[in-house]
Amino acid sequence: MQILDGKKTSEDIKKEIAAEVQQMKANGEKVPHLAAVIVGNNGASLTYVGSKVRSCEQIGFDSTLVALPETITEAELLDKIKELNENEDLDGYIVQLPLPKHIDEEKILLAIDPQKDVDGFHPTNFGRMALEMETFLPATPFGIMELLERYKVETSGKHTVVIGRSHIVGRPMSILMSRKGNPGDSTVTLTHSRTKNLEEYTKNADIIITALGVPEFLKADMVKDGVVIIDVGITRVEDATNSKGYVIKGDVDFDGVSKKSSFITPVPGGVGPMTIAMLLKNTLLARKIRSRK
Ligand code: NAD
Repeated sequence: MQILDGKKTSEDIKKEIAAEVQQMKANGEKVPHLAAVIVGNNGASLTYVGSKVRSCEQIGFDSTLVALPETITEAELLDKIKELNENEDLDGYIVQLPLPKHIDEEKILLAIDPQKDVDGFHPTNFGRMALEMETFLPATPFGIMELLERYKVETSGKHTVVIGRSHIVGRPMSILMSRKGNPGDSTVTLTHSRTKNLEEYTKNADIIITALGVPEFLKADMVKDGVVIIDVGITRVEDATNSKGYVIKGDVDFDGVSKKSSFITPVPGGVGPMTIAMLLKNTLLARKIRSRK
């Protein structure tokens, strides 16, 4: 069994990007500039956005934090989005979700210029992904593809079972694994909460990607020997013995399933750390595309 180490891989990717940024600076070229928009004071969102901005600084990107009050109206936020779209210095930006209830997330998403949508959530970019065109891939699925590639996990002709059909993980993952190329060329089954007899699929899977958010859902008796396991789940589970009062659990019963698997991502330290690295990679791509024009 080999661990797919997302922590180490994400550090490698950040170092590679930092080296490219150094080269850009040495050539007198403009360095990538990422902005992050945050509305309100949601603790988890502030943490995520904070670490995205810090990562930009570490690797030499320019970064801007756009912190807006919870009370901002939808029209005011749309004005801000327009401003970011028109800001020539900015290569890409993200709008941290969730937004307050009085703001229509879909409206905001549709207002983002697809060429600056480094989260890869805009329908134009989602469509480009499905059509195998150059685009910004959503960061979490992109991180999984990168792990599979760097660890040379064979995916061609394999049966991949994805559990969960969310727009940010499960659905794009099913598309990416079925695309032509490496990683890819898989035969994909996309399963979800309405799937009957899930075990029939998981027991026949060569690769299982879990993105459901149910701690330790996938057990050893649901998988075959040699399976590749990608665990996207992150759930806080109360634990009085831990100083924080909780522990983070994935969707996979790691102790049991790892004994049968050929490759497996741990939680934490697997898919999670890859997400920010891939956002940075998308921002670098955005800069390169803009400089070509
Ligand atoms: P979600 O919460 O939007 O949806 C869950 C999906 O799981 C749904 O499609 C549902 O049909 C399916 N599902 C639920 N119960 C099921 C069951 N018993 N059997 C089969 N399918 C079932 O999903 P999400 O936003 O993709 O998040 C999933 C998990 O991944 C969460 O734990 C989340 O915290 C985590 N996550 C991690 C990262 C990361 O960077 N590592 C990024 C995004 C999400």
